[in-house]
Amino acid sequence: MKYSAINELKLTHIKKIIGDAFVYTDTDSIAKFAHDETEDLKFFPEVIVKPRTAVEISELLKFCNQEKIPVTPRGAGTGLSGGALPVHKGIVLSMERFSEIIEIDERNLQATVESGVITEVFQNAVKEKGLFYPPDPASKGSCFIGGNIAENSGGPKAVKYGVTKDYVLNLEVVLPNGEIIWTGANTLKNSTGYNLTQLFIGSEGTLGIVTKIVFKLLPFPKYNLLLLLPFYNLEESCKAVSEIFKTGIIPSGVELMERDAIQLGVKYVDDSTFNIDEKAEAYLLIELDGNNLEIMNNECEEIVKLVENYSCGEILFAEDSTQKERLWKIRRAVGEAVKKQSIYKEEDTVVPRAELPTLLIGVKKNWRKIRF
Ligand SMILES: Cc1cc2nc3c(=O)[nH]c(=O)nc-3n(C[C@H](O)[C@H](O)[C@H](O)COP(=O)(O)OP(=O)(O)OC[C@H]3O[C@@H](n4cnc5c(N)ncnc54)[C@H](O)[C@@H]3O)c2cc1C
Repeated sequence: MKYSAINELKLTHIKKIIGDAFVYTDTDSIAKFAHDETEDLKFFPEVIVKPRTAVEISELLKFCNQEKIPVTPRGAGTGLSGGALPVHKGIVLSMERFSEIIEIDERNLQATVESGVITEVFQNAVKEKGLFYPPDPASKGSCFIGGNIAENSGGPKAVKYGVTKDYVLNLEVVLPNGEIIWTGANTLKNSTGYNLTQLFIGSEGTLGIVTKIVFKLLPFPKYNLLLLLPFYNLEESCKAVSEIFKTGIIPSGVELMERDAIQLGVKYVDDSTFNIDEKAEAYLLIELDGNNLEIMNNECEEIVKLVENYSCGEILFAEDSTQKERLWKIRRAVGEAVKKQSIYKEEDTVVPRAELPTLLIGVKKNWRKIRF
């Protein structure tokens, strides 16, 4: 398709729809919105807009559709797959003013939020009411809920609780022709008709702009336990993951960090309290959660017994929430730490659990050099 450039006349119309104060063409804004967290890519938009209502977005999309002006929606710009990059120029439409948590419905275990709410802000708000929104991408402190929808984000808790798509009941979306629709219903069972909600999840902003989301929530689990296990053999650490799942235990998080990754992570967060076991080739961070501490302790014991079959160092049981947070902080920092301190490029990779050793060993084989 041939797109048209934004001239003064069109810009005046865009300003009329969105409001002068929320339309940007200055060099700094253009540079800021030319990239997301995808490495090495920059595409400069012509205009940035920050609307506040679905109706404003609707009017804008009608106009842009008619004038063939490309529009790229953008959340917090933490994406790693280039979805928020304005490759055809035109408008970047920032959702940062859609930052309201509209309702937390404790009776139905649901919440309605605008799509520019920061994921962690939402998690903390529902936690205050004893509720749980499990998807926890490592970028949760900055990424937006709408970006999570568009990327179907997941995190460590995916092993037990699934990913973003598993918590979405209904979406308010502005379609490219300006129509504002709801895709589903605010009920757990909604089995008639096409599943439009799931069609929009993971669509990276290509089908419409999500303005409101209705989530289902869970009661917040009363307890969680965190273990850090050093393995003296990388391959064995991968095998242990499969073996743990075979026992029927479903941890709420399992994260494998090979030696260089954890070393870089520790250095990046500057945690002098953490000593890496000299012989460790990899660490497993395992979290269990639930409401029955006795069952959880038994599961911990079972895991400890299971890893006795492997060459494993001293297991660390996190004592309190401060220590747990410190360990998670290291894990969450690994991506940034590796990117900043090594020649590695960040790529999301997904393989069946049993293929983990092949993936890790393959990557290490291609290892060239690393700067510490
Ligand atoms: C340090 C770091 C750690 C990360 N960890 C994880 C992780 O653990 N798990 C994971 O899944 N991802 C992770 N990511 C990737 C990224 O944070 C997620 O993909 C996140 O969901 C993107 O959200 P965002 O608000 O930044 O979206 P953006 O990057 O702004 O946009 C992403 C896509 O969503 C579209 N979009 C945004 N808002 C809307 C909307 N309202 N309607 C329609 N389309 C929209 C954009 O057009 C684009 O295609 C990580 C990124 C970084 C930098």
